[in-house]
Amino acid sequence: MSIQSNTNLENNSVGWRFDNSYARLPETFYARIHPVPVQAPRVAILNYTLAESLGLNLRTLGEDEAAQLFSGNLLPHAAQPIAQAYAGHQFGNFTMLGDGRAILVGEHLTPDGGRVDIQLKGSGRTPFSRRGDGRAALAPMLREYIISEAMHALGIPSTRSLAVVTTGEIVMRETPLPGAILTRVAASHIRVGTFEYVVRSEGVEGVKILADYTIQRHYPELIEVDNPYLALLNSVIARQASLVARWMLAGFIHGVMNTDNMAISGETIDYGPCAFMDAFDPQTVFSSIDYHGRYRYDNQSRIAQWDLARFAETLLPLLHAEQEKALALAQAAIQDFPDIFQRCWLNGMRKKLGLFTEEAEDGLLIEALLTLMHKHQADYTNSFRALSAAYLPENSLFKDDAFAAWQTQWRARLSRQSASLQASFDLMCANNPAVLPRNHRVEEALAAASDHGDYAVLARLLAAVSEPYAELPEYAAYRAPPTACERVRQTFCGT
Ligand code: AMP
Ligand code: MG
Repeated sequence: MSIQSNTNLENNSVGWRFDNSYARLPETFYARIHPVPVQAPRVAILNYTLAESLGLNLRTLGEDEAAQLFSGNLLPHAAQPIAQAYAGHQFGNFTMLGDGRAILVGEHLTPDGGRVDIQLKGSGRTPFSRRGDGRAALAPMLREYIISEAMHALGIPSTRSLAVVTTGEIVMRETPLPGAILTRVAASHIRVGTFEYVVRSEGVEGVKILADYTIQRHYPELIEVDNPYLALLNSVIARQASLVARWMLAGFIHGVMNTDNMAISGETIDYGPCAFMDAFDPQTVFSSIDYHGRYRYDNQSRIAQWDLARFAETLLPLLHAEQEKALALAQAAIQDFPDIFQRCWLNGMRKKLGLFTEEAEDGLLIEALLTLMHKHQADYTNSFRALSAAYLPENSLFKDDAFAAWQTQWRARLSRQSASLQASFDLMCANNPAVLPRNHRVEEALAAASDHGDYAVLARLLAAVSEPYAELPEYAAYRAPPTACERVRQTFCGT
């Protein structure tokens, strides 16, 4: 089947239930536009498990029909495709952006009463493409697929990936690369940058419409409170604090925490040069374009706070009629961020160390362990997992008297809680992943798929990272840190 313009799916055996609420917002919030059809789409990967949880049955589709659907050549019947307008601070500088290579096909209602955006990424030029071609290359789309699905399996809020299709077209980057389209599933694509766009283009009336919409969609419990906009700000702050803490607990570095890549829903979004760190070093940077380490591992909470301040600015006129009072409210909310973040992080770290109770010195105990890991260039994931594996005979993790002393302290700390050692052990195993999509494994899977059309390596990696807390013998190879020559030092955003 070859398609020159988009057509609509004749039947709905897949089970789409669209209700496109964003497309009912003011016309200035988006552009109505169709995906640009592609030459010869082919399925690279379909996420049947995710589809089922969304109430979609992909098994009714033939290979070709699935490829046409997830390339945007064929649209679900009730689709109302739009490209969303947004802005953003990129590396601190403000820019007008928008979906330059993505189309929101529609919002699907799930069997459990949820609502998700179905978005095609790499779907062709839009009014927001600026100088870009609107397309995406296969490897970065598969990268987003792997890491987003791994994040979900780890229990970290994230957008999901439903499909990747190749387009049969070449995209020109530094070299010619196979083109691809990712189908992204998200709670929504409302970003801090969406608010930044609307406040500049529509003023306070526009922000009120967007804020009311956001509250209804993501924070309905706030509809009736006294100052819903201040409550919205506080809730977004709380969700981001929790999210960034969870990234850091898992050793994850997002890599491009621009305000357009911060979702108001609290999901991790826009997987570019992101990566999990192997050896623990708080200064780790992977992104090839992050020259000054703005988005390095240990800067992520500060940057989240900076981004949230940009969000707060857009809400100012809604927070209080008097400018000074509005500013004071916003500042107080933003100043709370470090404490909220620290609490989330500390509680997560306690679980990683098998602690059910809180003691004032816990922070010091944790810092001392991280200092030892850094000194020994220890693998972050495996060190925690090794601690959970048993109660470690003296000195088995690091040959270091300081570690022996630390271990004595930790054991004493464990014995001061009423929970059994077995309960601590179970808590640690549920909070210290054994398998993550390590960079060298991701690169290996992407090279096999992108260079050789071999998807078996990718399938094995996906199977391994979908059960991150199980220490299954068949995935032992995925737990090994990279050797010196396997180590990946830089990642690329692939736009
Ligand atoms: P990202 O780096 O993916 O977060 O994208 C930042 C901005 O650049 C967004 O507005 C994207 O839509 C846009 N963009 C990225 N790649 C392309 C491309 N190949 N063509 C058009 N716009 C793009
Ligand atoms: Mg982005």
